[in-house]
Amino acid sequence: MKVVTRFAPSPTGMLHIGGARTALFNYLFAKRHGGSFLLRVEDTDKARSTEEATQAILDGMDWLGLHADEAPVFQSNNVDRHVMCAEQMMANGTAFKCYATPEELQARREAGEEKRKAAKSDDLSDAEREALLAEANELLAPYRSPWRDGGDPPAPDAPFTVRLRAPDDDEIAVSDHVQGDVTLKTREIDDLILLRADGTPTYMLAVVVDDHDMGVTHVIRGDDHFRNTFRQLPIYRAMDWDVPEFAHVPMIHGSDGAKLSKRHGALSTLAYRDMGYLPEAMNSYLVRLGWSHGDREVFTMDEAAAVFDLEGINKAPGRLDLEKLGDVNAHFIREADEDRLLALLTPEIEKLATLDAKLSERLQHALPTLKERGQTLPELAESCHFLWDSNADNLNKKARKALREDGIKRLSELREALDGADSWTIEALQGVLDAYCAAHTLSMGQVGPPLRAALTGGLPAPDLAPVMYWLGRDEVLARIEKHAPATRG
Ligand code: GLU
Repeated sequence: MKVVTRFAPSPTGMLHIGGARTALFNYLFAKRHGGSFLLRVEDTDKARSTEEATQAILDGMDWLGLHADEAPVFQSNNVDRHVMCAEQMMANGTAFKCYATPEELQARREAGEEKRKAAKSDDLSDAEREALLAEANELLAPYRSPWRDGGDPPAPDAPFTVRLRAPDDDEIAVSDHVQGDVTLKTREIDDLILLRADGTPTYMLAVVVDDHDMGVTHVIRGDDHFRNTFRQLPIYRAMDWDVPEFAHVPMIHGSDGAKLSKRHGALSTLAYRDMGYLPEAMNSYLVRLGWSHGDREVFTMDEAAAVFDLEGINKAPGRLDLEKLGDVNAHFIREADEDRLLALLTPEIEKLATLDAKLSERLQHALPTLKERGQTLPELAESCHFLWDSNADNLNKKARKALREDGIKRLSELREALDGADSWTIEALQGVLDAYCAAHTLSMGQVGPPLRAALTGGLPAPDLAPVMYWLGRDEVLARIEKHAPATRG
C-alpha cells in the first residue's frame, strides 16, 4: 500500500508552529514510506478564509521545505462532490432529510438547560429531582432527529438539512497510533448535519470525502480533532469506504505547561524566519517537540525522514523551549555552508553597516570562525561588528585601562613590527606577535590587551592573529595608529 498523508490547514491566519509541526510529521511519514505528502487548503468557510492566509501558509511551508508532492487541493472546489456523496447516503438510507428548524433546536437546548437549573432547587424531593434531570439530559443529549427513520415533512416546501443517521450499535472504536484504542458510546454522537439548509456541505462531510478522494491512508493531525474522528467514522461506513489510519498528535504547550499563547513566544512560523532561525533548525526542533527517537536531539531532514515513526510521538504535549531552539539553531548555523550563511546574513549586516566589497571580503574570511558565535542571524551579525567598527569611540573599561602608557608604547612597537611583516597570513602574523613577545620578554597576556583594545575596542574577539588577517594590513595599522600615532615618518 502506498502511503498518502496530507496537511489540511484552514486558511484563516498565519501558519501556526503547531500546524507546521503537523505538516512536518505528515511530510516525514510520507518520505519514510516512499509515499506522497499532499496539501489541502480547507477554505470552505468563506467568511473566515482569506487569500493572504493561504499565501502565508504556502510561504511558511515553502520556507521549511515542506513541499507537497502534488498541487494543493482547494476544498471549495469539491463542493459538488461533497453534495453528491450526501445524496448517495440519502439514497442508501444512511442519511435523511431533517426538518427541525434552528429555532426548534435552540428551544430544545434552552428547555434542557432550564430543567437542569430547576433540578438544583432545594424544594424538590429526590424523585422529582431525578425526573427533572432525566428530562434535562434527554433534551441536552446529542440530537437524534425525529425524521431519522423517515416521516413526512411538516409542509411540502419545508426547508431541511441532510443528516447522517448516527449508528444504533452501542460503541464506535478508534485505534489511534498516539491515543491508543478508544471507544465511544454511539449515544454520544448526534445525527450530524452533512448538508446545511442552504445545501452547502459541512466541514465534517468535506474532510471525509476529500480524504477518501485524495487516497489518504494516514490522517496525522492535532488531537483537537480526535473527537471528530468518532463522528467521521460513520461517514466512511455509510459510504462503504476504507478507513484510514489515525494519529492524533498532542498540542504544543508553553514552557509553563499552559496552552500555547503569544506570551510564550511567537506563534507564526514565519516569525521565526524573521527572527533569524534557519529552516533546518526549525524542522529539527519541531520534529523533536513531541516525538523522540532514542536520545537523539538534532536531525537533518534526511535523517528524520529515515527514522520517523508514529510510535515515537509522545502522548503528552510538547513544551516550547526557546533556549533549546536557540541551541539547535546555533548548531545548524555552525553546520551551514558559508556562502549560504553569508547570503542569509547579508540583510542583517545591512541593517548595521554598509556592506561594501571590503567588508564582504572580511566577512568571507571571518565567517568560518565567527559562525560559532551566535544563536540567531542577528546575534551572529552583531558578533561581526568589529569587522566594520573598531569601537574606538566606545572603548570599554578594560580597553581604556589597556591603553595607558605601557600599552601605547607596546602598540607603537607592534605597529612597526606588523608594518614590516613579510606576508599577511595568520601564521605570519602569529609569528610577528611571538617574535615581539620574545624580543621584549613579554607574555601575550601583556601584549594582547592593548592590541585587542585598539582593534575591537576591547570586545572579546577570537585570537588576534586571525582578527588582523581578516581586517587586512591597512585597517590594522590604521586602527593601531588611532591610539598610537606613528613616530617615524
Ligand atoms: N482544517 C482543520 C484545521 O485546520 C484540519 C482538519 C484535519 O486535519 O482533519 O484544524
